[in-house]
Amino acid sequence: METYDALLASISPASGTGRTILDPATGEAVGEAPIHSVEDLEQAITAAQAAQPAWAALGHDARSAALLKAADAVERSAEELARLLSREQGKPLNGPNARFEVGACAAWLRVAATTPMEPETVVDDGETHAELHYKPIGVVGAIGPWNWPMMITVWQIAPALRMGNAVVVKPSEYTPLSVLALAKVINEELPEGLLTVVSGGRDVGARLAEHRAIGKIMFTGSTATGKAIIKSSADTVKRLTLELGGNDAGIVLPDADPTAIAQDLFWGAFINTGQTCAALKRLYVHTDIYGAVCEELAKVAAAMPMGNGLDENNVLGPLQNKAQYDVVANLVEAAREAGARILLGGNPDTSQPGYFYPATLVADIDNNNPLVTEEQFGPALPIIRYDTVDEAVEKANALDVGLGASVWSANRDTAREVAARLQAGTVWINKHGAVDPRIPFGGAKQSGYGLEFGVEGLKALGVPQVING
Ligand code: NAD
Repeated sequence: METYDALLASISPASGTGRTILDPATGEAVGEAPIHSVEDLEQAITAAQAAQPAWAALGHDARSAALLKAADAVERSAEELARLLSREQGKPLNGPNARFEVGACAAWLRVAATTPMEPETVVDDGETHAELHYKPIGVVGAIGPWNWPMMITVWQIAPALRMGNAVVVKPSEYTPLSVLALAKVINEELPEGLLTVVSGGRDVGARLAEHRAIGKIMFTGSTATGKAIIKSSADTVKRLTLELGGNDAGIVLPDADPTAIAQDLFWGAFINTGQTCAALKRLYVHTDIYGAVCEELAKVAAAMPMGNGLDENNVLGPLQNKAQYDVVANLVEAAREAGARILLGGNPDTSQPGYFYPATLVADIDNNNPLVTEEQFGPALPIIRYDTVDEAVEKANALDVGLGASVWSANRDTAREVAARLQAGTVWINKHGAVDPRIPFGGAKQSGYGLEFGVEGLKALGVPQVING
């Protein structure tokens, strides 16, 4: 375990040679990130190629043991990691935020380490004996976003390492320090060269996606970048797991209890101040309880403190960057101009430093309004009234993305019937966005393809090989 300053110093380039990263809550400098180039990427890939065969040869048990030790190392440095994450990303230490994210890193490492991964006997009838094995791919590239930078990096690297691969990580240029620090801690337990973070820009990501020596890209980010990666990976027929953008719908059925569900609806939409891929981003409420749901949700949302993440009182933080702040502010403004009713928020205090946008609820909004149809990726939730369940299902399924969805009801069977009609990779009942390292997670439609987590997630980081005979 190191102090916060020592951890930051260990990932910093020589003074003046890096890029200053600013705290989105205050505008103050957090630290300097190295500016890595495509030449640095080449070096990282060469080191990964050199380290991978010995790591693969260790076998599952030894690799699992190393990952369990890495989880312990993350826990030993948890407070320092959470502090850096809070300063760089903006999310508060408290609530389902920075400490929660670091805790999730340890949890995902442990589940990736301990999930059984045995060859499967697919036919054994006396004449034929066929087994399905999963072999290491080689070197995997991991490209990630800025919203949950540590947790998503672990989602990508933990199964890759467990399956015998080396990994080169390209973090978002908005949150490189979090990922560099996390990798520094995990690397205490791994052989040299096996896991390297290349802190570069989009050019480095693009080169990684087309590189001959990379067998697979794990990508989490926007649908637009996902499409660019599909194209640049085509020449090498690279394997891809794509976790892309979403615009998740939630449907509140007429029998739901507005008071009982308000708190979970709030966190389903506003976790990480709305900057979450599988957050509730469009809420459809039956007309009979529309007023009551709006009222209860507004009560919960109004009571949630927002501010600097290092203040233990706060559970909501700033938007991570100016571009995202502008997206949210412009969408809410356009909704207001189109005649929607701002129930709560919508009035940022621009005299203060930081990209703070208040928790905002927008009622009586048209289903075709851009605040509904575009991924706002921030603390602004449109609430749409519906009359029949058929109408709600049709509206929920109308977009070309389908990451998550949710159904809210007092009756589980009714909710499950509606859930089965929704086009999304996961449908939650009476909750939204609850991910679990044991349960497969992935998108439908243009939210991506491939599964993460659980045994399916491990298999996605291997090359299937059938031994027949
Ligand atoms: P982004 O697509 O702008 O960037 C993601 C990463 O891709 C960054 O590291 C970036 O440098 C890199 N990149 C950019 N252009 C590239 C290229 N041509 N080739 C290779 N790499 C390139 O996404 P973002 O703004 O950082 O993240 C927000 C988006 O991510 C939202 O749409 C959100 O829904 C999505 N997201 C999805 C999931 C999921 O699990 N489905 C999780 C988190 C975020």
